[in-house]
Amino acid sequence: MTALPTLQAPDAGCADAPVLKERGQHEVFCGLTGILWMHRKLQDAFFLIIGSRTCAHLMQSAAGVMIFAEPRFGTAVIEEKDLAGMAVLDEELDRVVQRLLARRPELRTVFLVGSCPSEVIKLDLNRAAERLTSVHGPQVRFAHWSGSGIETTFTQGEDACLRSLVPQLPPKEDDARELLVVGTLADVVEEQFLRIFRALGVGPVRFLPGRSARDLPAVGPGTRLLMAQPWVNETMRALAKRGAERIPAPFPYGVEGTQEWFRAAAREWGVPDGVFDSVLGPPITRARTALRRHREALEGRSIFFFPDSQAEIPIARFLARELGMRPIEVGTPHLDRAHMDAELPLLPGSTRLAEGQDVDKQLDRCREARPDLTVCGMGLANPLEAEGLRTKWSIELVFTPVQGFEQAGDLAELFHRPVDRARRLAVS
Ligand code: SF4
Repeated sequence: MTALPTLQAPDAGCADAPVLKERGQHEVFCGLTGILWMHRKLQDAFFLIIGSRTCAHLMQSAAGVMIFAEPRFGTAVIEEKDLAGMAVLDEELDRVVQRLLARRPELRTVFLVGSCPSEVIKLDLNRAAERLTSVHGPQVRFAHWSGSGIETTFTQGEDACLRSLVPQLPPKEDDARELLVVGTLADVVEEQFLRIFRALGVGPVRFLPGRSARDLPAVGPGTRLLMAQPWVNETMRALAKRGAERIPAPFPYGVEGTQEWFRAAAREWGVPDGVFDSVLGPPITRARTALRRHREALEGRSIFFFPDSQAEIPIARFLARELGMRPIEVGTPHLDRAHMDAELPLLPGSTRLAEGQDVDKQLDRCREARPDLTVCGMGLANPLEAEGLRTKWSIELVFTPVQGFEQAGDLAELFHRPVDRARRLAVS
């Protein structure tokens, strides 16, 4: 078998590129949205939003058909009368939790999720979580995080949720090396990754979150961290404070990103090159084959990213390097340079990087550039489509399992579809 080439940056890429910093009106979903993918993963947890009717409506409309099943999230609506006194609100919350646990005895963790209204009235959910744990523990544990939309973007909800679990992770009893993969992955992707780690001899491997919110990995010196999602920045910092060490790597999007993600772990574990090449060779060949037809359709097409999911930089790197697309502007809500250290050099140096949002100015730049494809939030997509621009909802990149070799074709398909639709509409 031929040795797999290591990833090369053609030049410094965007490692030292200037960043356009914008602070203005932004158009994103709030952190509550993260519950929609996390509740599928954490099968014995419940997300109790302490919010308004607006929060409840957002969750119900965003969740769509999921409400027909017994959901693992709900909203305790703060009524006007609740605002009269905190003591009343505490009692009301205790009653809601009691009713919930009586109806759902299988629950082992309840997340009290703050919102804009609960923050405005300064409801102390940290104290509430402690109080409820003392009443219902040890069977049921309570944690608290905020999904408030003020100054946040929707993927920060997951970061806040995982960050709230870090203090509950038990200390590691020894310094033996263990890998912790951080960020929610679909079960199918988690299983594929585990199979590859096993074949490489990298392990033990744990995931945060795992399928149970109670199955918490121990953490301490010896824990090595691989980021599976680009938005778990605060969780990573909290884990580092517990003695865990990050393994620098690109994110596992596309063939190259996934290959280098595994290579970073393999190097840390001292896996011989021959073993690495023979384990990864077959899935890489399959993934490259899956990408071929998408590259033919997308090569040379320009793309423009509005800041939304925080996955913009690694996705743009994949589209540029593996599908030949031309990123004009890549906006991201927050640029964490430390965690993007392996990605930025791989983005073409011609890319304009932007952090934060001033939506009107960015719309002007997008209209002027007339990209072949624009990646943006749902609120901007329809108006841009009406102006003749083709769009892709960024939230699809979060809901769809797109990491890893076997999903590389699906990731490319997400971008191929709107371009193909535009081509067919132009012909007919
Ligand atoms: S948390 Fe804030 S932004 Fe999110 S739905 Fe509730 S009120 Fe709206």
